[in-house]
Amino acid sequence: MLPNMHDAEPIPEAARAEIDRLLQSGDLFRYHAPEDAPVSLLEQEFAVELGSKFALAVSSCSAALFLSLKAMGLPRDARVMIPAFTFAAVPSSVIHADCVPVLCEVTDNYRIDMTDFEAKLPGVQAVIISHMRGHTSDMDAIMALCDTRNIPVIEDAAHSLGTTWHGRNIGTIGKVGCFSFQSYKMINAGEGGIMVTDDADLVARAVILSGAYEHNWRKHMDRKDNSTELEAAFDRWQNKLPLYNLRLSNLAAAVIRPQIPILKNRVQEGRRNHDHVATLINQSPWISVPAKLDPENRAPDSLQFNLDGMSDSDVQAFVGVAAEMGVKVQVFGLTTDNARAFWNWEFLPEQVELPQTRAMLMRACDTRLPARLTQSDCEAVATVLTQAADQVMGPLRVYGT
Ligand SMILES: *Cc1c(COP(=O)(O)O)cnc(C)c1O
Repeated sequence: MLPNMHDAEPIPEAARAEIDRLLQSGDLFRYHAPEDAPVSLLEQEFAVELGSKFALAVSSCSAALFLSLKAMGLPRDARVMIPAFTFAAVPSSVIHADCVPVLCEVTDNYRIDMTDFEAKLPGVQAVIISHMRGHTSDMDAIMALCDTRNIPVIEDAAHSLGTTWHGRNIGTIGKVGCFSFQSYKMINAGEGGIMVTDDADLVARAVILSGAYEHNWRKHMDRKDNSTELEAAFDRWQNKLPLYNLRLSNLAAAVIRPQIPILKNRVQEGRRNHDHVATLINQSPWISVPAKLDPENRAPDSLQFNLDGMSDSDVQAFVGVAAEMGVKVQVFGLTTDNARAFWNWEFLPEQVELPQTRAMLMRACDTRLPARLTQSDCEAVATVLTQAADQVMGPLRVYGT
């Protein structure tokens, strides 16, 4: 029996009482209450959870990326490097910020190709590292290259909440880290995002840009240890910046907050499921799951793997057979209009070709693997994937006929 892999994670019961209270009071706007609004409490709790000085909750991770770029005060047409394997929202955020995306090659382990990254770095004024599907790029190498050139790094950790690098939370290594609360991410609020940083000036600018009009920024100073530094920054930026109104609602915060204490569990279960399925399907001669990097401890809620030795039509046939057997697999480069295939980003100022990333996208498969699956669910999924590959390729071809 195959599990339901489509549904998002259910919302903890604890959210109900708070949502009820908000519905009765009508207190849904984050700046309505004089203090301790659910969005403010979420920001404080999230900053503590991640080990960051400041957090700003906004309407999506895309909004967080856009505000990060704006808050850095990049000049118009600044070049911003992004990986060529990411979600369309990432180049979009660069374009919204009046900057120019520079696409960098990705290797077949879904991470940034450091040779291409270094080659394209001259002339780049900021970098967004998308840890796509929670696969962490080599942050040691990236920070070393960017720090010596004074290039700020934004981590798009939308899908990496709970991942660590040398034991440190992903999203806290670059200057800013951005996370998503969209339904298919580790914490599900339907929509929502948050950014974390230790830079008071940057967060003050982002707070105002996000829509803290007049003196609403005062409601971001609940943590007394930070408030002097923040107040000076807010004073500097009062009335100096446009408002984009990308705030989060108290209702979303009420859905998010009870998920923070269960995050560690979800991460462990997701990793256990992922690693179990990965071990099983890696035994197939047609399937390979790239290994994680050494310093990385992943928090997966989905599974990516490459199909080896298959033609395009074999790959299509594999997807069809797996679907018939009950497991939906998407090949990033083969599904029509896929938002993670760079050639579909026709809104870019110029189209570029990245042959290595393209080759990866034509063989890389994506399937959800929610944390709530049991061990036998995982085994059923692995069986479908290996049998679908065998059925398409025929076991005999293993021996090179
Ligand atoms: C989901 C996702 C985003 C976009 O997040 P939203 O909250 O939906 O804007 C950006 N980057 C990556 C890597 C994602 O997985």
